[in-house]
Parts: sequence; structure tokens; C-alpha cells
Amino acid sequence: MFRIVLQAKVCVSCGICVDVCRPVALGLRTFRNNGVEGARLSASLPVAEMGTFPYMRDAARCDGCMLCVNECPVEALSMTSIAPM
Ligand code: SF4
Ligand code: SF4
Repeated sequence: MFRIVLQAKVCVSCGICVDVCRPVALGLRTFRNNGVEGARLSASLPVAEMGTFPYMRDAARCDGCMLCVNECPVEALSMTSIAPM
């Protein structure tokens, strides 16, 4: 299984990664303090810096094709593998 790693301060919230994910493993959601997969962006991020970011909605669907990583226009995504649950 795979996990996406997002540089949330680089992401421009375009949604391309979600659009190209054929198995529909990714979703978009809006965060205040927490980044994708629970990574902490900042303990004191102002509301104005809320953003919409991709997250791994259903890791069981991800086949590791890397399209999301390769199609991101700002190279905000990378992937790591995780042990199956
Ligand atoms: S690696 Fe492929 S299947 Fe997995 S989230 Fe990215 S686009 Fe979707
Ligand atoms: S393609 Fe890249 S910039 Fe666009 S939402 Fe996905 S991670 Fe963010």
C-alpha cells in the first residue's frame, strides 16, 4: 500500500492529482492546521491560510501508478509505501 506525501506549502490546490487518479484513491479536503495524512503544517496557522489539499481517501484503491506525482505541476507530491493493514 502507498501513502502520499504532500508539500502543502507548494501545492496550489489545482486538483489535477485527484483528476488523474483512475482508481479514485485520492480526494480533496480543506485543512486548517493539519496537512495531508496528519502532517502538521503549523501549530499557529491563521484561518486565512486554510487550504484544500489532496489526501489518500482509500489507500486500498491505490495501485502505485505514480500519475498523481508525475502530473502535479509544482512537484508537490511524492509517495512512500506502507505496510498493508
Ligand atoms: S499512485 Fe496512482 S492510483 Fe495511487 S493515488 Fe496516485 S494516481 Fe491514484
Ligand atoms: S496536482 Fe499538485 S498542486 Fe495540484 S492539488 Fe495535487 S498536489 Fe496540489
